[in-house]
Amino acid sequence: MIKTVKTVNLKDKRIIMRVDFNVPMKDGVVQDDTRIVASIPTIKYLLANGARTVTLMSHLGDPAKDAEKAKAKAEKDGKTFNMEAYIKGKHRMAPVAAYLAKKLGKKYSVVFAGEDGCYNKKAFIESQKPGTVIMLENTRFHKEETSSDPKERDKLAKALAEYGDIFVNDAFGTAHRDHASTASIAKFVPVSAAGFLMEKEVNYLEPIVTDPVKPLVAIIGGAKVSSKIAVLESLLKNSAALIIGGGMAYTFQKALGQKIGKSLVEDDQIDTAKKILEAAKKAGVEIVLPVDHVGADKFDPAAKPVAIAGQNIPDKLMGMDVGPKTIALYKKVIVKAKTIVWNGPVGVFEFDSFAKGTEAVAKLVAAATEKGVITVVGGGDSVAAVNKFGLASKMSHVSTGGGASLELLEGKKLPGIEVTRARDCLVAGNWKMHMTRNEAAVLAKALVKALKNGKHRYLVAPSFTLLETVGPILKGSNINLGAQNCAAEEQGAHTGEVSVLQLKDLGVQTIILGHSERRHVYKEDDALINKKVKLALKHGFEVILCIGETLDEREKGKVEAVCKNQIEKGLEGVTPGDLSKVVIAYEPVWAIGTGKTASPEDAQAAHKFVREVVEKLYGPDAARLIVIQYGGSVKPENAAQLMAMADIDGALVGGASLKSETFVPIAKF
Ligand code: PEP
Repeated sequence: MIKTVKTVNLKDKRIIMRVDFNVPMKDGVVQDDTRIVASIPTIKYLLANGARTVTLMSHLGDPAKDAEKAKAKAEKDGKTFNMEAYIKGKHRMAPVAAYLAKKLGKKYSVVFAGEDGCYNKKAFIESQKPGTVIMLENTRFHKEETSSDPKERDKLAKALAEYGDIFVNDAFGTAHRDHASTASIAKFVPVSAAGFLMEKEVNYLEPIVTDPVKPLVAIIGGAKVSSKIAVLESLLKNSAALIIGGGMAYTFQKALGQKIGKSLVEDDQIDTAKKILEAAKKAGVEIVLPVDHVGADKFDPAAKPVAIAGQNIPDKLMGMDVGPKTIALYKKVIVKAKTIVWNGPVGVFEFDSFAKGTEAVAKLVAAATEKGVITVVGGGDSVAAVNKFGLASKMSHVSTGGGASLELLEGKKLPGIEVTRARDCLVAGNWKMHMTRNEAAVLAKALVKALKNGKHRYLVAPSFTLLETVGPILKGSNINLGAQNCAAEEQGAHTGEVSVLQLKDLGVQTIILGHSERRHVYKEDDALINKKVKLALKHGFEVILCIGETLDEREKGKVEAVCKNQIEKGLEGVTPGDLSKVVIAYEPVWAIGTGKTASPEDAQAAHKFVREVVEKLYGPDAARLIVIQYGGSVKPENAAQLMAMADIDGALVGGASLKSETFVPIAKF
């Protein structure tokens, strides 16, 4: 979950905001204002909610690199090159600030902070009237912005951080860059949050990789397999069908032994294509390749289109677009989707004679949107295509970031997004060995009703026999279904045990493991718990790993040693990727079911220590994001104080979770 400006108190705060105003410029004139316009709702919201000043920072091309290239080109063409005029026309922010002022209208005041760069602007910013928008000069005039040395980046980041109490990142198009103004700055400001553009991009793109509404159909096109391997592999995990089109389709066709004539091909990617086809077969993902083509004898907008009836392309022709049978096939596949992601055209749509296939895809996706399908267009060329066909407004979401959207679809963590992530607060009820089916149904129904608008994340874990009753009641609600344990083996002769496969079949999403009663009454050791943790994660469950010391261990001063050992052993072999599905519940054994609660300060100290252990094992980002619940006689009277502590991210509740009168006030703290 990312933290957005909506959850931050903005009153009288100075905002330092990263926008992506990297717009095309010609002689100091903005050529396409999409990115400027996209940032306006956030700027207006910040000011309408009391922000004192909004200082904007952005790059605008890369002055050093771009000027070098332009100079070399001019020299090659025998033209004179005026560096100052080039920089002024292409890379200075003053005209962008003026453009923004025009777009915002007379009610707003926009000032440019000067051509002398981004340092030493604090006094200037603080001298502005409340409500002013300040535009800094292009951040890439400073080499520290993009430096690969974090210390250099930090130098600029610290200077920029001086200009704001809150860092707002709305620059999705640059979110994949680990730069001073996109990510490093977050280390030096107290609060970081995402703007509305970033929020929308993340909300549409991220679920495609993590949890799409299924069936998901992915349409991946473009020239090269090599630039799309990671995205193809990532989308295989959740897609029902993968439509592969554009130049890259010919490499796949060659891998299948089909004839591709003079078509674009990456011979060094044939093995990769074979591996992807093999992986798709294993995962049961339908791969859709062209079954007919439109070809040409040369790559030229004026080339004559030639219909090619079958898959094989004659020697003298190259594939330029897909044919009518392929379009009909696309239609059959696309109508089955509940989510569609499209990245890359399926033909050379820039040439009008070869644009039919891509236009047909755009129309099919637009028609799907109208029927309520979630449709996401990501990546430069497919965005250009939907714009060309006038269908951009007919998609659920058209991404503003080419590289950033591709990396998100590849399942990568983007530095500019990660700095805006906030930890969830998870309130969970462990019903232990209580209740009949009727009683459980009554409680589940009451909770669904009472927590409908609750602002935290919720979970109840009934005993195995109640899962089939409670699961359907929770379905579609904001309360997850949890189990209290699982077997360490997938299946087989294990009398009295319940397997992860059986739990999955019942719709269980989360499994509580290593609970103190499992450790101390049923003598489960760290090795067994670790085996269960890994098995549950392998099957896609969220895991709540319980840890905590006994009274004897506390009295002997062993709290930290016990917790550290239980975390290290419990998470042994858990990958950093899987850690995002792990919640740790710190539950001092002496507090569970005894009515004795740890004081908020003692609990906070233990939680802080737990986070430090996670940091040593998985690094600072993982530690910042891991949810650590407190458990041990949490009651309505003490819940708010406990959960107000900086490192306590919710509660695992036993006794008080058995009645809605006690659980609901805790859950709604
Ligand atoms: C538990 O069983 O996880 C627990 C915390 O119980 P209680 O709230 O009753 O102490």
